[in-house]
Amino acid sequence: MQLKEKNTTWMIVLALFALLLGVGIQIGLGLERDVRTTAQGRAIAAELAAEVRQAAEDREQALYLDKAALAALPAEKAAAYEDLHLELLLLVNPWNPVPADYSVEVVPVGEWQIGEDQSIATLCDDALLRMIADCQEAGYRPYICSSYRTQAMQEALFYNKLVRVLSMGYSWDDAPDIAAQSVALPGTSEHQLGLAADIIDSEYTYLDEGQERTGTQRWLMENSWRYGFILRYPNGTTDITGIIYEPWHYRYVGERFAKDIYEKGVTLEEYVALRRGR
Ligand SMILES: [Zn+2]
Repeated sequence: MQLKEKNTTWMIVLALFALLLGVGIQIGLGLERDVRTTAQGRAIAAELAAEVRQAAEDREQALYLDKAALAALPAEKAAAYEDLHLELLLLVNPWNPVPADYSVEVVPVGEWQIGEDQSIATLCDDALLRMIADCQEAGYRPYICSSYRTQAMQEALFYNKLVRVLSMGYSWDDAPDIAAQSVALPGTSEHQLGLAADIIDSEYTYLDEGQERTGTQRWLMENSWRYGFILRYPNGTTDITGIIYEPWHYRYVGERFAKDIYEKGVTLEEYVALRRGR
């Protein structure tokens, strides 16, 4: 009887021990799992937070200061800031002529040009020449074949285009519209802003779609945004821009906007509309 009781007591002690051990293991595993989950969760959360922060920073960089920040700036600085951004994103197309009071200071582009003396707005001559030099450095042969144009130059270009279109057999009624798709109507060309440049590869000097296959254009299409330039008339956007696909025409909008436009994959028309809708 005594032995039986002793055995039972031991069995109870063992059972309790086993139970405690089991609970202990469960708690241990559970804790370990919790710790691991938490660490993983934290890592993911940190990654996401970094992404969100990066996106916010990019957005802030790309879009000019919000209204509150702008209001906090001294009036003079704020006005200058707004003026600069209005100029950088100034939209000139068949529906938006160059403003009557627009004036621009230009400087010669120097050695990287084909044809007569080319000049470009002082706002972007540095960026343009840096871009051309780096493109050369990368092993390509870019040349500026057209940049700033006065109203008279644009009229002469348009006149010549009109003559060519008429000689192709188009009617007097249709010819101006056809001509205007590749040479902007005088008063509606971005070249008149001094912020645009036509850049070609010296080994392929035709202004046609074949230009996109040259090393120069492939490099420019990938890198121009880094210098503040955008490919202004991308393939398939004629309905929006009013101009044919021009894999040679680059427009300066400044680095922040160029990066944003490049990343969004939109035209200047769409970008300006997006910003107005903000
Ligand atoms: Zn052009």
